[in-house]
Amino acid sequence: MFEDLELYDVTIIGGGPAGMYTAFYSGMRDLKTKVIEFNPELGGRIHYYPEKIIWDVGGLTPVTGAQLMQQLIQQAQTFEPDLVFNQQITGLERLDNGNFILTAATGERHYTKTAILCMGYGVPKMAKLEIEGADRYEVTNLHYTVQELEIFRGRRVVISGGGNSAVDWANALEPIAASVTVVHRREEFGGHERHVAQMRQSRVDVCTLCGIAELHGCGSCIEEVTIAHLETGESIRLPVDDVIVNHGMRADLDALKQWGLEMNEGHVVVDEKMESNIPGIFAAGDLAQYPNKVRLIAGSFTDGINAVNNAKLRIDPKADKVGYVSSHNERFKERNKALGLVGDEQKI
Ligand SMILES: Cc1cc2nc3c(=O)[nH]c(=O)nc-3n(C[C@H](O)[C@H](O)[C@H](O)COP(=O)(O)OP(=O)(O)OC[C@H]3O[C@@H](n4cnc5c(N)ncnc54)[C@H](O)[C@@H]3O)c2cc1C
Repeated sequence: MFEDLELYDVTIIGGGPAGMYTAFYSGMRDLKTKVIEFNPELGGRIHYYPEKIIWDVGGLTPVTGAQLMQQLIQQAQTFEPDLVFNQQITGLERLDNGNFILTAATGERHYTKTAILCMGYGVPKMAKLEIEGADRYEVTNLHYTVQELEIFRGRRVVISGGGNSAVDWANALEPIAASVTVVHRREEFGGHERHVAQMRQSRVDVCTLCGIAELHGCGSCIEEVTIAHLETGESIRLPVDDVIVNHGMRADLDALKQWGLEMNEGHVVVDEKMESNIPGIFAAGDLAQYPNKVRLIAGSFTDGINAVNNAKLRIDPKADKVGYVSSHNERFKERNKALGLVGDEQKI
């Protein structure tokens, strides 16, 4: 039975950058919109880097993750979508009438004409340091995210990992930590080449082809780590104050395979309309896979626009193919007046 459920035009699963911007654009196109997020708040993966300075979002001078997130949250709520928190969507069923029922792990159900999947890498699960007993240090000085740079001031930090995050944190901590040692299993780093060069030229101590082999602690805190060369087996014991592990995140997208979606290496394959192999189910942001997909915040915005425009056409085939630019959208006129902004945009 679904007649008792409220029908939405668009239900967005995931409240990260893709989901937030998609919610805004869906409202701009007059679609009745709901966003369902597993976490108790919007923001997605930006929550992992609130203090990082972000330079690569068009039109924005450098902003912190926290600032960008606040702007996105505010923008997402422009057209007052319904926001549902603390629910992980685990089931999708296509009804004979072409609409969908989405079911959460909590048992709650949602009824929608279309869904836009903005789930990134799913409900994120950090890849843990695979050393027995390491979890006991998670409450003290073993970190999987860096929420506040200041807590590392004057401390001896070992970072394990070689991707973007590991390189970014090494560069951010280098000016304030007493020492920074990066331990990476490979010779090459996955981070942006400019950032890798910056790290290599700084006082960061880089140990490649190495891994953390042992943690030595006093019971509650790590005091030393053994770093071992993966080919020669040689090892050193290093005193530390903090260990940061950036081994990436493991995808938790098992449910999607059962929904009948075509997947490619953990991503949902979409066509030029951002539509999956299930008509009416779209994807946007890091979850979506198509040729030359850009997995950056900026890339998620155009995905969202494209998905919404095509969801709109599915619901109303006579609708305009694309949304009007803001200056021609009636819904902004009153808002512009409220902001005291009635200038050139009325004439454009
Ligand atoms: C350390 C770090 C630094 C980065 N720096 C930059 C940068 O400088 N510039 C840049 O452009 N990009 C950067 N990125 C990448 C950027 O964060 C991602 O491209 C972006 O977050 C993708 O947005 P998204 O909405 O697709 O996915 P996400 O941000 O992952 O959001 C997905 C959301 O969906 C929710 N969700 C998942 N499954 C379900 C479900 N079944 N039910 C309900 N909710 C669900 C999750 O809880 C999450 O909130 C960085 C990433 C990291 C990790």
